[in-house]
Amino acid sequence: MIEFLHVQKVYENGYPALRDISLHIDKGEFVFLTGESGAGKTTLLKHIFMDLFPDQGHVSVAGMTSGGSSRHMPSRRQVQLLRRKIGIVFQDIRLLHDRSVLENITFAARIGRSRERAVRKKSYDVLARVGLSHKCGNYPHQLSGGEQQRVAIARALVNDPRIFIADEPTGNLDYRISREIFALLQDIHNNGTTVVMATHERSFIETTHYREIVLHDGLLRSGGEGRRFQCSV
Ligand code: ADP
Ligand code: ADP
Repeated sequence: MIEFLHVQKVYENGYPALRDISLHIDKGEFVFLTGESGAGKTTLLKHIFMDLFPDQGHVSVAGMTSGGSSRHMPSRRQVQLLRRKIGIVFQDIRLLHDRSVLENITFAARIGRSRERAVRKKSYDVLARVGLSHKCGNYPHQLSGGEQQRVAIARALVNDPRIFIADEPTGNLDYRISREIFALLQDIHNNGTTVVMATHERSFIETTHYREIVLHDGLLRSGGEGRRFQCSV
C-alpha cells in the first residue's frame, strides 16, 4: 500500500530531512512512526500524501508513484485523486473555526459527492461513529480539545479513506482523552484501513503489537520491513 525506496529529501536550506529511507507498509496494517522531534516524521508523512516529492528514490502510495529514475511528479489532479483515498489528522487539529461541527464535515463530504442528501447522511454517519452527533450544531471553540480532534477524525473519514495518517494526534491532549483518540484509530484500523500514526506516547506502543518504525536524524533506525521479515515464535 505504501513503499519508500531509498528516499532522500533535502529542504531548500540544504537540510537533509530524510536520508535513504526504505520501508514498506502493507494494506490494512497499523504502524507507529516514532523518533525524537526533528527526526523527520512529518517530512515522511508529507511524502505519503504527496505534499512533498523525493529528491532521490521513489514513493509509491495506493498505486501512485513519485520520484524514481524519471523524477516523476504527479500532476495536481493526480495528487487530488490520491488524497481522496487518504484521511489525515494533525496535532493542531485545523478545523474551520467559523463553521459548525456539521459544516466542517459536510465541507469535506462534498468533495466526493454531488447530492446534498448523500452529503448530509454521510456526515451524520461519521459524526455518530466518533460519538459526537449531539454536538453537530456547536462551533469548534465550544468543544474540548479531545472533541475537536474527534471532529477532525470524522472529517478525515468522510470519503472512506484507504489510508489514515495521524501526525501526533494526541500531542496536545491529556492521557485519558489521548487513549480515547487512540481507541478510535484502532477502530478505524479494525475496519480495514491502513493507519500510520506518528506519536511519542510509549504506552500505546507497549500495549499493542503494532509495528514501530523508528526514525533518527532522517535515517531509519528500525522497523522498515513488515511481517515478512519478522520471526514468529
Ligand atoms: P519531526 O516530525 O520528526 O519532528 P520534521 O519532519 O518536522 O521532523 O523535521 C525534520 C527536520 O527537517 C527538522 O530538523 C526540521 O527542522 C527540518 N525541516 C522541517 N521542515 C523544514 C523546512 N520547510 N525547511 C527546512 N527545514 C525543515
Ligand atoms: P475537558 O475537560 O474534557 O477538556 P472541557 O472542560 O473543555 O472538556 O469541556 C467540557 C464540556 O463542555 C465539553 O463537552 C464541551 O463541549 C463543553 N464546552 C466547553 N466550552 C464550551 C463553550 N464555550 N460553550 C459550550 N460548551 C462548551
